Amino acid sequence: MLGLQLSKRELAARTLDVTGCGRLLRATSAWQGLLTLNYHRIGDPGQSPFDRNLWSASEEDFDQQVSLLAKGFDVIGVGDLDEVLRRRRGRYVLITFDDGYRDNYSAAFPILKSHNVPATFFIATGFIDRPRAPWWDELAWMIRTTEKKSLEPNSWLTSPIEFDEPNRERAFGKLLAIYKGLGPEATDDYLEDLGDLLGTGRCPTASVGDMWMTWDMIRELRDAGMSIGGHTVNHPILANLPSDQQDWEIGECRRRLSAELRRPITAFSYPNGTRSSFNDFTRAALKQFGYSHAFTFHGGYARSGTDDNFALPRTAIETDVTLPMFRAKLTLPQMFA
Ligand SMILES: [Zn+2]
Repeated sequence: MLGLQLSKRELAARTLDVTGCGRLLRATSAWQGLLTLNYHRIGDPGQSPFDRNLWSASEEDFDQQVSLLAKGFDVIGVGDLDEVLRRRRGRYVLITFDDGYRDNYSAAFPILKSHNVPATFFIATGFIDRPRAPWWDELAWMIRTTEKKSLEPNSWLTSPIEFDEPNRERAFGKLLAIYKGLGPEATDDYLEDLGDLLGTGRCPTASVGDMWMTWDMIRELRDAGMSIGGHTVNHPILANLPSDQQDWEIGECRRRLSAELRRPITAFSYPNGTRSSFNDFTRAALKQFGYSHAFTFHGGYARSGTDDNFALPRTAIETDVTLPMFRAKLTLPQMFA
């Protein structure tokens, strides 16, 4: 069902592309507001043992996408948000990256610079301070490096999981979904138990290599006119945490960013980013710690004059977003973003 819907959307995007309707719509300003694009990693995942779904575009595709944006749109930074969201007219695009992966610096940054286009990088500070595999990458690593072919039901699983060879994506998806439903007291036990059951143990820091940017790299982004925002310390799903831990994740992240970058930090993106990943307490904590804008990960765009600056929508750019689909998102975000 989902596949059918996607292919219909893709077909519609291609029709928009070849009939020239897209150009007409772009020229007549069919929408007004802010369209925010969300990326994670740029490049080729190859045979990475980590979460391959995190790669958003190849370098070639990203270059084409940024080239399109540079020619036809006002691409803004977070410093422009207040004014842009208040304006009644205009179409603006914000390019965002989540987490702080090294390829943001080594692959995306040179492309952005070559087109003279700004982007915003939301950083989970704990990964920069103590480089290690984040929970989603660690789960993928366990599933891909274990010699086991299945997992029997246990205190975490109600039914057995057979591994789909050779990619094991479905097994990874199931174990990831279980993690996302756990409270903060259980997440580490879950990873420990899985490491034992799969015979892999926890992902060693040495296997992580140069996964994350360094603070010097992030300062270089800042100096080149890129915007930096918060994304917590340890990347928990905030709504799963009690209020004191939410406070700490939000406040400590901002403290580390401010200390390293010496700039006001005002924008934030919610880890996981669905509507259930944050709650009223999260919003209140963000305001208390001095944030003025926060981004979700559900699709759509912010219409001019939006009054909710703490649930700004973003549209995900992933490797299955073809160039016609990318153009369709820019032309008719009401339908495609
Ligand atoms: Zn994230």
